[in-house]
Amino acid sequence: NPFARAHYLLAAHNPRQLPADGGYEVAFAGRSNAGKSSALNAICQQNALARVSKTPGRTQQLVFFDLVPPGSPEPGTKFLVDLPGYGYAKVPQELQAHWQAFIQSYFNTRQALKGLVVVMDIRHPLKDYDRQMLGYAVQRELPAHVLLTKADKLSRGAAMNTLQAVRMELSRAFGDTVSVQTYSGESKQGVDEARAVIARWLEL
Ligand code: GDP
Repeated sequence: NPFARAHYLLAAHNPRQLPADGGYEVAFAGRSNAGKSSALNAICQQNALARVSKTPGRTQQLVFFDLVPPGSPEPGTKFLVDLPGYGYAKVPQELQAHWQAFIQSYFNTRQALKGLVVVMDIRHPLKDYDRQMLGYAVQRELPAHVLLTKADKLSRGAAMNTLQAVRMELSRAFGDTVSVQTYSGESKQGVDEARAVIARWLEL
């Protein structure tokens, strides 16, 4: 599992703090509490890579995890990027605007960005924020992949129905560059499927 090598590199609060643009990276987005940190940790087989928080939505930064160990021939060329969570209205409007601008410029200009994973609670899929993030990716013709998390919270039949409904809606709204799967951190269902998509984008 190449993701098991992931380690924290840096957190960028503004565009100047981003690492050099030239490698391959995949960004993770999701509303607060959707299960993004849990999914990142499971994909990387680490318990505490991304923080799993009970009071989410406060850290406003792009966190870079490097998949190539320091000292290797090409460190700093393959990244997973944890985008700030969203959905808690506690952030002042000015800061929201700053974030909006930062994320938008990141999506518009970042050459290394090869794909986007959007994490959604299967019980509350495709909210405005999710559509906005998918829109940024599709606009740039980047592929996107949706993880419908917490599938264990629904019966198998209900989870499959939601999967089908979301798949149809994604296809209608964004065309065929967006794929979708169910995921459960409880049973680890869907971890391999997610890894395969991301590994392909990163050419791992
Ligand atoms: P984030 O804010 O998107 O990073 O969400 P977290 O990863 O911190 O998860 C939010 C809460 O949902 C935590 O209490 C997790 O334990 C829980 N959670 C995350 N993924 C799953 C899942 O697949 N199934 C269940 N049942 N709970 C989950």
